[in-house]
Amino acid sequence: MSHACQYCKKEIRDRDELVTASKWLSIRPYHYRCYELAVQEIETIGNNEKPLNNLPNTIISVVMMIVAVYFLSTGALGSVGDLLGVLSLYPITMRLISYFRYERSLPAFMENKR
Ligand SMILES: [Zn+2]
Repeated sequence: MSHACQYCKKEIRDRDELVTASKWLSIRPYHYRCYELAVQEIETIGNNEKPLNNLPNTIISVVMMIVAVYFLSTGALGSVGDLLGVLSLYPITMRLISYFRYERSLPAFMENKR
């Protein structure tokens, strides 16, 4: 399965050049360079897609998942805790969708791309 960059419409060939960006429940793939260009345009039109497949987001996702497990398994704060727990599952859910939908099907690094 191949993925086309949302910015230049060309194929993304490996994970090294892939950036997956999310806004709410949608995830869109970009080339690394195209994402930087897209972000500059996004800033001018006030959209805010956040990159998913980087280390800081992965760490945040794991921490939020631990928070979610805590609230959902302990009953802390009652129904408010349940709500916080469900909301805390959102980052890890998006991170996993990004992985299974885009990253898993691409090689980690392909030489001589250009
Ligand atoms: Zn591109």
